This record gives sequence, C-alpha cells and structure tokens, in this order.
Amino acid sequence: MNLTQAYSPEHFRQEAHQLVDTLADYLSNAQNQTLKTVIPYRLPEDNLEVWQQDFEGGKGNLLAFFEKVIQQSTHLHHPRYMGHQVSPPLPIAALTGLLTGMLNNGMAVYEMGLVSNPLERILSDLLANKIGFTAQASGLLTSGGTLANLTALLAARAAKAPTDVWEEGHSGRLAVMVSEEAHYCIDRAARIMGMGSEGIIKIPTNERFQLRTELLEDYYQQASNKGLTVIAVIGSACSTSTGSYDDLQTIGEFCAQHNLWFHVDGAHGGAVVFSEKYKSLVAGINLADSVVIDWHKMLMTPALATALIFKNVDDSFKTFHQKAQYLWANQGSQEWFNSGKRTFECTKLMMSVKIYSILKAYGEEIFAENVDTLHDLAHDFVGILQANPRFELGVEPQSNIVCFRFVGARQTPESYNSVNAVIRQRLLEEGNFYIVQTTLREKLYLRVSLMNPLTKKEDLIALLAEIENIATTIG
Ligand SMILES: *Cc1c(COP(=O)(O)O)cnc(C)c1O
Repeated sequence: MNLTQAYSPEHFRQEAHQLVDTLADYLSNAQNQTLKTVIPYRLPEDNLEVWQQDFEGGKGNLLAFFEKVIQQSTHLHHPRYMGHQVSPPLPIAALTGLLTGMLNNGMAVYEMGLVSNPLERILSDLLANKIGFTAQASGLLTSGGTLANLTALLAARAAKAPTDVWEEGHSGRLAVMVSEEAHYCIDRAARIMGMGSEGIIKIPTNERFQLRTELLEDYYQQASNKGLTVIAVIGSACSTSTGSYDDLQTIGEFCAQHNLWFHVDGAHGGAVVFSEKYKSLVAGINLADSVVIDWHKMLMTPALATALIFKNVDDSFKTFHQKAQYLWANQGSQEWFNSGKRTFECTKLMMSVKIYSILKAYGEEIFAENVDTLHDLAHDFVGILQANPRFELGVEPQSNIVCFRFVGARQTPESYNSVNAVIRQRLLEEGNFYIVQTTLREKLYLRVSLMNPLTKKEDLIALLAEIENIATTIG
C-alpha cells in the first residue's frame, strides 16, 4: 500500500465502523461480565514473546490486531476492575479521542489550538470556580498529575525563592514540606528541581495517615535552623495508598502565616469539588495557591488530562519565563491562548476537547454522580468487611480507596503479610478481579480503589468469597 492509499478516506470509513462495532461489543461484554477475565495476566517475558511472534507475523488484518489488543489488555470497564486509580473512560470521551487524534492540533501556539485553547480556558475557569477561587484564578491542562505537580512547584519556586533560580541557578538551599504519605512524584519533582534529599521534608502522619499539622511549626523551625529556605507545603487530597485527606484548612493557615506557597495535590481526590455530598473532604482547598486535579481519575476522561489551577493566574505565567521569540510575538504578555507558555509541553494533546465533550453531553452533574457513586460504594464495602471477622480494615476510608487484609483463623498474625501477598498474587494470576496491594506501617494490605461506577455490592461480596477461597489453599 502506498501513502495515498494509506490516507484513503474510504479505508478509514470502513475500519472505523468496524472498530466502533468491536468496541461497543467489548463494552457490553465487559459490563455484563460475559467477559470473565479482568486482567489477562502473563509474565513480562511471555508477553513479549507473544508480541514478538505477532510482529514477525508481518503485516495483516488490522481488525484482528485491534481485537488482540483489546483481549490482551486490562479491562477497566469490567465491574470487577478495582485496581489502580485510572477511570474507565466514558465512551463519549473516548470517541472524542478519535476526533482529536485525527485533527491533531498541537496547541502550543494559538493558531494550532483554535478550539482546544479556548476550551481549556473555559474548563480551567469552571474548575477554579468549583474550588472556590475568585475571578483572578485560572489555569491550564497538562499531561498528568506528575507533570502538573512539578509545574506547580516550579511556579512556587518562582514566587517564593529568595533568588531567581531560573536565571541564576541555585545559590541557596530550598525545601518543601509534605506528608510522608504523599505521592512519590512530589519527592521526584523536588529532586528534579535540585533540592536533594534534604529539601524534601517529610512530616509524619497520624493514625488516619493524614499529615500531622501540629508538627508543621516544629519542622519548619528545624529546617530554618539548618539553613534551608522552605518555599512550599504540599497537602494531599487525598493520599494514594489509603485515600486520606490532609487537613487543608490548617495547612493553608500555616502557609499564610509564614508566607509559604500552599500547593494541593488533588490528583485523585480533588474531584470531590464537584460533589455536594463529599466536597467537605477538601475544606480549605480555596486557601491554596495551586491545585492539581486529574480529569482521568474520578472524572471519567481518557488519560492523560490534568488540571493545574492557580489562585492567582499571574503566577502561572512566571513558571517558565524562557525566551522562545520565534513562537510568541509578545513575550511578556499573559496570553492564555498560547498553551505552550505555561506548560512543559510544546505540542500538547487536545485534551480539553475530551473533557468538554462530557460536559456538553451530560452536564457537570455527571461528575458529581460518579464521585458520589464511587465513595458510596466504598462505604458499602466497609460495611461488608466489618461484618466478616476474617477481614480487617487498614484504616477507616475517607474516599473510594479501601485497604484491608485477610486475617482468617487458620493463619497467625506473623503470617498475615505473606498470606495476603500470596492472595494478591493469585488474584492477579487468576484474573477474575483486579486489585492491588500496599504496605502500611510494615503491614501488607490488599487495596481496592473503586473506579468503575458500574461495580456493584455483589462484585465486592464475590471478591471476598474468592479471597476466602484462595486462603483455604494456603498453608
Ligand atoms: C495519581 C496521583 C498522582 C500522579 O498523577 P499521574 O496523573 O498518574 O501522573 C499524583 N498524586 C496523587 C495524589 C495521585 O493520586
């Protein structure tokens, strides 16, 4: 096939129709569980071999390839998917992904994002309003929470460091304060920024794995005594392992008192700003200077799509004051419509269009409904766990993340860690459920994050039955 044929509209029409039909059947099979397996797990080397064979098979029928990709992937739309915090995207948003993939407007400059830049502005303003910020607030979209947190900390440094690190490099020793339960990307961001180990001050957490705010003053003074300049405190909303929300109000007040940047990592839980029922979990979020919220976690958008919202939008233009004259005629001005001025990305996915399609189709109520459903489901799961003496909760959950472990009678407390590790491994290999595991204060827990709103109580009951079943075969 030559290039002209490869670009043929008729080929596309045919293949796209077939693919959409295949995906609709897949969705149906996943949702009604005709599809039994949630994860077709294989060891990495075995999986590599499968695909090497496929590759050596040469060029062929693309529909067969699509079907194989579907079959061999982890099925987020299966109600027994309860693993990592990525959403089963709404079909309409995935479909919009086909549209934006075709248009491929690169966004960095206005002319290359005539639609996606205004939509990004509208979505940022909407989210700023939900957070409780005033009209000075707005923000941007970027490729994932990890990159968004790094971008926020760069903005924090531009605003709060005593010298201009961007122009002059490092002269002082900067630091940020964060809970020991924060997502690892905060640690990584601080190291990328040259702060080193000493620049990441980890504050211990309480029995609910929330930052112990009563220690902030003490840690701050200790850092100052060592010659460190603390520029920011990061609150987790919520933490990744246990879904614990830090006390944002108190952290915000502490930051105001010491003139520190207050950043909220709400990659997962920031979505509760859409929910009347659960938004009190992030009380005080409006005190933040910057907030990160992943649209691809509880907000049903295909990955990656992350909002970074600034209380004062001026701050967002100070993050990268690098010269790129050929791109922007007016270097100093605050042009929201030139995406690349404020993001790491030069070329950027048209992610705003996918998010906007959800709002356009269903209104923002759909976000509230999803957040409420997932949180309510976690509460149901707690009830089921507590009614069964062979299970123990890691911590009373605040969000849709539940940590628990099997503590059946045939096992002794010394063996709980290894027993639960075996359970999780077997679940993975059997593939009828997908859950993960985490270690909290040296105890290994099974961890469920309820990301699929079509998961039902019966699925959770079935999960526990399967775990008990596996346990009978261990030691
Ligand atoms: C998921 C998550 C991240 C990382 O976000 P990505 O979009 O996966 O890069 C950061 N912080 C928290 C609290 C998270 O839950």
